[in-house]
Amino acid sequence: MERTLILFKPDCVQRRLVGRILARFEDKGLNVVAMKLMRITPELSKQHYAEHAAKGWYPTLEKFITGGPVVAAILEGLEAIRVVREMLGATNGLKAAPGTIRGDFSSSRQMNLVHASDGPEAAAREIALYFRSEEICGYEPTIATWLRASDES
Ligand code: ADP
Ligand code: MG
Repeated sequence: MERTLILFKPDCVQRRLVGRILARFEDKGLNVVAMKLMRITPELSKQHYAEHAAKGWYPTLEKFITGGPVVAAILEGLEAIRVVREMLGATNGLKAAPGTIRGDFSSSRQMNLVHASDGPEAAAREIALYFRSEEICGYEPTIATWLRASDES
């Protein structure tokens, strides 16, 4: 089982798309094991987007991501990090494939609705940035036996 950190970005909250997009992850069989509405501070933005903090466009990203509340969540599932990234699609909504979340809902390079960790190291780092261990609530879904065969874990 893998865990990945997702953010429903401020555009997603403002456009009232959190419920519809969360439903896609639930439909896929991913388990929501933590979730909260919160505001990202400039300090947290710089930590979260450390790899981009020196780029010329970083200030516009920080203004966007701190510009309204986000919903942070942890999704759990087999190969969840890759599966969720593929569900998001390419960064730029104009280039993301139809059927992906960004491809279906975004027409922007920046306002692309959802963030997801891009690998195991990022997932561990980002989960620790957003959640304390007591805020994470793992559980076995009662329908687990109907989501995959017993030899697939
Ligand atoms: P991803 O979210 O797909 O991993 P990146 O790590 O490349 O994408 O970028 C992080 C976020 O920064 C993007 O999701 C998007 O919101 C924003 N972003 C990416 N490129 C640009 C850009 N050239 N100008 C402004 N914002 C950008
Ligand atoms: Mg990235």
